Amino acid sequence: MRFIVQKFGGTSLVTGELREQVANKVIAVKEEGHTPVVVVSAMGRLGDPFATDTLINSIRDEYKDTEIREMDLLMSCGEIIAGVMMAATLQKKGHAAVCLTGAQAGILTDGAFSDARIMKVKPDRIIKHAKEGKIVVVTGFQGMTEDGEVTTLGRGGSDTTAAALGVALDATYVDIYTDVEGIMTADPRIVEEARPREVVTYDEICQLAHEGAKVVHPRAVEIVMQKNIPMRVKCTFTDGPGTLVTSTGEVNKGTIDITRDRTITGITQIPNLTQFKVPVDENEEGLRQKRRLFKGLALAGISLDFINVYPGMVVFTVKDEARQKTAQVLENTGFTADVTPGCAKVAAVGAGMTGVPGVMASIVEALTREDIQILQSSDSYTTIWALVRREDMEKAVRALYRQFSS
Ligand code: ADP
Ligand code: MG
Repeated sequence: MRFIVQKFGGTSLVTGELREQVANKVIAVKEEGHTPVVVVSAMGRLGDPFATDTLINSIRDEYKDTEIREMDLLMSCGEIIAGVMMAATLQKKGHAAVCLTGAQAGILTDGAFSDARIMKVKPDRIIKHAKEGKIVVVTGFQGMTEDGEVTTLGRGGSDTTAAALGVALDATYVDIYTDVEGIMTADPRIVEEARPREVVTYDEICQLAHEGAKVVHPRAVEIVMQKNIPMRVKCTFTDGPGTLVTSTGEVNKGTIDITRDRTITGITQIPNLTQFKVPVDENEEGLRQKRRLFKGLALAGISLDFINVYPGMVVFTVKDEARQKTAQVLENTGFTADVTPGCAKVAAVGAGMTGVPGVMASIVEALTREDIQILQSSDSYTTIWALVRREDMEKAVRALYRQFSS
């Protein structure tokens, strides 16, 4: 059997009409002679009755202290409802279909409730149903521990489910269907003229995803990459070709050289960050202070980003929601910090800029021309980023986009 895993995101499943369209995409794959395995997310976004965030709020408002285990059980319901609806849509159209929960589909995870990792996939039951000619619909975002606990995989977890199934079934493709035309040069909600990329490498999409382009979960890409399973990001609502995600080797085999003709793969953003500037002594005492500082934050489980260490200063950012806790830890360990909440990170990502001179200069130029203050900046092998104020984020993304697309 030649499997194609087709994952459909929440916005693709909200109405009966959309589910019809989704069913048609699934049936088309079957009629081409492939065996579709469908993975679904919960239907819709906050406010829609069975969306994950709606389910969370329905409990959290009244029962703030609900255990994380029970939250996972609750959160797994959104996908179950979507999966049943999808199987029902296929059945209504005259196709045999069966909905399996993550556990039934053989997705085994570790025990980290709300952010579990897939450890193993036993796809026997999927294969059995597929051999019977049934279209298998699997509920995304969830799995089961060895001892039978239901777990969820964290935000974007359905992408991970699809990737893991793709590897377990040695699928021809893992297709991620969403509400945009593919992997775009920037978030289309911010940059109107952003356009889809035809091909990107696994590395490029991982970078984009880590830097905030949440169109595909980076963990999902890391999984398909291990077995070189090609992934395609496609639009549920159109018949566009979408974006092919593959290895550099595959790309170079063909005629498309995707790194030579572009410096930047895409522009990304991460909102809602807080910057901390912590003055320390410049002498030997300063070294001890730095050790105490990082140890205190690590012990408190605070994850830091964008760390710059200078002789008399340590600068870093945390997510806005970790601000209070971070401030508390600093106070308890004897530091006074200069705190700037409401920041955002904008980044230009691209393997093609390695070694290209002047990329940082053009970023600075693009931002300062728009009177955007750069609070912090840095670069790595494939990414150049700047921290700006949240209210400047959209303007900054557009400025970078214009700078690099001309
Ligand atoms: P789904 O519910 O299908 O999983 P997501 O919201 O997780 O959808 O991902 C799709 C969204 O990702 C798009 O609607 C788009 O706004 C956003 N996005 C951010 N950056 C990019 C990018 N570079 N390319 C495509 N989409 C992007
Ligand atoms: Mg998603």
